Amino acid sequence: MGFKIFIMTDMEGVAGILDHDNWCQPPERGYPGRYYDLGRELLTREVNAAIEGFCRAGAEEILVVDGHGAGGIHPLLLDRRAQLLRGWSAGWPSALDKSFDAVAWVGQHAKAGSVGAHLAHTQWFGYLDQSINGISIGEFGELALCAAELGVPAIFGSGDEAFCKEAQALVPGIITVAVKKGTQTKPGDELDTKAYMRHNLGAIHLHPEVARAAIRDRAEAALARLRESPESFQMPKLAPPYERVTVFRPNEPGQPRQIDRALHPSSIIGVLNMPFHPHPIEK
Ligand SMILES: [Zn+2]
Repeated sequence: MGFKIFIMTDMEGVAGILDHDNWCQPPERGYPGRYYDLGRELLTREVNAAIEGFCRAGAEEILVVDGHGAGGIHPLLLDRRAQLLRGWSAGWPSALDKSFDAVAWVGQHAKAGSVGAHLAHTQWFGYLDQSINGISIGEFGELALCAAELGVPAIFGSGDEAFCKEAQALVPGIITVAVKKGTQTKPGDELDTKAYMRHNLGAIHLHPEVARAAIRDRAEAALARLRESPESFQMPKLAPPYERVTVFRPNEPGQPRQIDRALHPSSIIGVLNMPFHPHPIEK
């Protein structure tokens, strides 16, 4: 039986993506964007490596989701065995539903405040932290918790080394590939948004071709393991009700942090889709 795989993608966790302003944003958004097209190629070729690995292990249907704000997948370079989704209008968890056999990540970065990370953030550099029922989560955790609620196992992820640790802590058994390692050793919690954007720009990268070979082989191994021993992929277990707490950095030095709380009686997907109404934290 062929497997149906959901691949979430992002740019900041790709080998050879050296910074945010030149590699992850186009000039039209007000960034220098010198290497944005090359950045999209680097991401798309890593995604293709994962597609190749999954197909070798029996994937029949693959949906690639472009989760990067400015867009990160080059549609002409994408492996033709996959289909591509762009656009976030459906909210969490995008097009993921119970019909998928597994969910995977390529190019994922670590959550805000991670040490040893590269370009770490959650949604935007303004997040200090986000948690569900007291468990701090980043972009990986947001989708992984949705997937768990739907009963879809998280089997594979590639990105920087701090992302890999974050994924394994939340979803024991997930197979990961670290394609780079951030050199920043401090979380930077005291920083405002602009300063935090410049906080973890340093990293040691694998050569992109070496990274792709590892992604291909480990993605194949992950799907083979799902076939042979599905119980080796655990799911995070949280009990209702679900409370989302988000703390935001100040935009400018000297301003207070802001906090938002949202509560849903029965659904993690429900609470992740609730609107934000942040208010300042009194000192
Ligand atoms: Zn991201």
